[in-house]
Amino acid sequence: MAETLYEESHRCPFCNEPGKLLNKIPIRRVGVPRGTVVETLECYSERCPQYMPPVLVGTSTTQPAIRNRWQVQVNPDGSIPPKGSGATGPKAFESTPEWKDVAPVARDQLRLAATRDERRGEAYEIKRDLDYRGGY
Ligand SMILES: [Zn+2]
Repeated sequence: MAETLYEESHRCPFCNEPGKLLNKIPIRRVGVPRGTVVETLECYSERCPQYMPPVLVGTSTTQPAIRNRWQVQVNPDGSIPPKGSGATGPKAFESTPEWKDVAPVARDQLRLAATRDERRGEAYEIKRDLDYRGGY
């Protein structure tokens, strides 16, 4: 049985496993039909190339797993704009660039806190990486 575009767009772009719906945000903007939403999905496959398992940092802090997230626009009638249609018309929503580096930066900050006092050289390298990304 063929998948609908809705089902297809809810599969992880990296590993093709069905994503888990995290939230649904209505879009209120001129030119966007009422009832348009953006769904945020998260990949729960541990075989996903974007999956990073939980890591113990220091001696007592666990950094939770990092999983791929993506967003899908859903029109009021339940349809999904076809792939590539964003190139021909204005996007109904902005991507969320503030998410882009949050996970790796948060992980580095935890590593920095855990190593700062014990291993000065390593802490310095982590801090340099954080500064390179603009810091948070
Ligand atoms: Zn995945």
